[in-house]
Amino acid sequence: MLFTRDLRVEDNPALAEAARSDRVLPLFVADPWILERSARNRVAFLAEALAELDRELRALGGGLVVRRGETVAEALRAANTAGADRIHLAEDVGAFAGRRAQRLTKEAAQAGIEVVGHPGVTVVPPGSLLPSGGGDHYKVFTPYWKAWEVADRRAEAPTPPSLRLPDGVEEDGSLYPDPTREGIGVLSPGRMHGGADSAERLRAWLADGIALYEKHRDDLAADATSRLSTDLRFGRVSPLVLERAAHRQGEAGGAFVRQLAWRDFHHQVLEAFPALPRADYRPRNAEWHDDEEAFAAWAEARTGLPIVDAGMRQLLHEGFMHNRARLITAGYLTRILRVHWKRGADHFHALLTDGDLADNYGNWQWVAGTGNDTRPNRGFNPVRQALRYDPQGEYVRRYVPELAHVPGSDVHEPWKLPGVAYHPPLETPA
Ligand SMILES: Cc1cc2nc3c(=O)[nH]c(=O)nc-3n(C[C@H](O)[C@H](O)[C@H](O)COP(=O)(O)OP(=O)(O)OC[C@H]3O[C@@H](n4cnc5c(N)ncnc54)[C@H](O)[C@@H]3O)c2cc1C
Repeated sequence: MLFTRDLRVEDNPALAEAARSDRVLPLFVADPWILERSARNRVAFLAEALAELDRELRALGGGLVVRRGETVAEALRAANTAGADRIHLAEDVGAFAGRRAQRLTKEAAQAGIEVVGHPGVTVVPPGSLLPSGGGDHYKVFTPYWKAWEVADRRAEAPTPPSLRLPDGVEEDGSLYPDPTREGIGVLSPGRMHGGADSAERLRAWLADGIALYEKHRDDLAADATSRLSTDLRFGRVSPLVLERAAHRQGEAGGAFVRQLAWRDFHHQVLEAFPALPRADYRPRNAEWHDDEEAFAAWAEARTGLPIVDAGMRQLLHEGFMHNRARLITAGYLTRILRVHWKRGADHFHALLTDGDLADNYGNWQWVAGTGNDTRPNRGFNPVRQALRYDPQGEYVRRYVPELAHVPGSDVHEPWKLPGVAYHPPLETPA
């Protein structure tokens, strides 16, 4: 059983199938090439998630075996040593994951080992819904959402009652990812933790959070979203189980389920267009400003626009940013400073614990007007957004305490702090 981004025992179709064999080797390969290019915040979360997964597997009589190296080579080595005749794993999207799965299948076949892919990363598997008018994926969310809502769901995969490891398997804790040595970006002091926190976040969300989601999801200061994105990113929480649980909350869960559909939507876009992190999905021949100082001011939270700087500080401090702030900060970079969306997306990707190729690059392109938005030229005014979604200025004062003395919505006026460079917008917002 090769775990990748499905780090759970509950509703894990690949694990459930692997566990039907006599013996199973639960394996995670820490690939230094990937880790060195991942946000430190994600490496940290991953290490905690793996430790918790190990505990969960031990409770079933197994345990997680971690190896270090290139995934295909290490998976085959482990499979050979264990005498495995099959490798089970979750199907994933994206250019790298796709090539890796192909190579694994091919090289395993040469060794007489069958590779079996399973669903589980999304609620509805990418590619399983096709638009009636033709095409290999949905380009627009609303028709996708309509088809998604009524699409068949797979049955939940049973948690294996017990697991038996092959003989002679050795575990080595020193092979775990290590955020102090691996990764890019900073390790954010207020970052989200993996491990047992994931289960607690899910429990608390269903018990207390979800009921108020629809009303407060866009209220920046309320911070009333689930914060389950990282648990979904690493598969600590099953999207299918989460969808079912949300539906049990009746109408309150509906708005939340729609966001899970957005996640699936971007995954099927990435599957059909693996170049999403690099190339315009819908080329618009936009003219970008290659302005290093503008980019640095944005990334370092010194644009002079409080709402933008507050969002960017949240990102640096927590490795997380409220969705509404992501829209505002990304809109500011791409529509006002007109810096290329890829610069901003890469910066987000170097810090977000939930940084995910489909969701990050898909959303950035959406904001920049090169993606799946049906109105790519929609107007954008960060100050108006600030007044609407942070009417009392509480969000800004939380992340920019230098402005704690500025009352109410006055805090949204462009500001200039001593010693902080103010980068004036290139254009007056529409
Ligand atoms: C510029 C930009 C970059 C983004 N980058 C990422 C990213 O790297 N990883 C990521 O998971 N989300 C990303 N999002 C989407 C969204 O901002 C986050 O999923 C959300 O803020 C996470 O907080 P939450 O779990 O509390 O969300 P909730 O509001 O509680 O939503 C529940 C879940 O739905 C999914 N979801 C919500 N909104 C979206 C969306 N617009 N697109 C896709 N899925 C969504 C997420 O899995 C989320 O956990 C990005 C959005 C923008 C505008």
